Amino acid sequence: MLREVLSPDDCAVCGFCCSFRRQSLNLTPCFAKETLGEIRRLYPEARFRDLPNGAVTIDISDNYRTNDSEEEALCPFNRKGCILPGHLKPFDCELWPFRLMRGEDCLILALVPTCPHIKKNDGEKLRAAALSAAKAAVKYAETVPEIVIDYRADYEVILRMSEDGRVIG
Ligand code: SF4
Repeated sequence: MLREVLSPDDCAVCGFCCSFRRQSLNLTPCFAKETLGEIRRLYPEARFRDLPNGAVTIDISDNYRTNDSEEEALCPFNRKGCILPGHLKPFDCELWPFRLMRGEDCLILALVPTCPHIKKNDGEKLRAAALSAAKAAVKYAETVPEIVIDYRADYEVILRMSEDGRVIG
């Protein structure tokens, strides 16, 4: 999570962004292929599924206990907070509460509308946090394109960027 807009203490007791409904399984975090060997060695019980460009994501499809579409399944790395060391944590988790989206002819850093702790922050602060994260997000997406999700109108657009990371709006 971005410390400019969220507090580690709030996130540690929340875990909202670490649980997923069935219809949100396209939003589970992507692990870069360079980190997989170490993650699999440290956490042999965790299950993953392959993504098209060589990265993987967690496989929690068998973790639902009911047929309720609102049921959330927790990421296996959340045990009262994320247990992954910083260098193994997925970039999309570091980027929370933003997601990188594909817009028309641009990339967008957008605010996820559902983070329960973000309301306290103002637009200026969010824009500053997005500006500080933009370059790294675009660079990471070059090697792990799966972190770029399709445009969603329910997310708030904070920053528009060209494909090479220049801020254009
Ligand atoms: S990797 Fe860590 S921060 Fe990311 S969803 Fe899983 S528990 Fe949460």
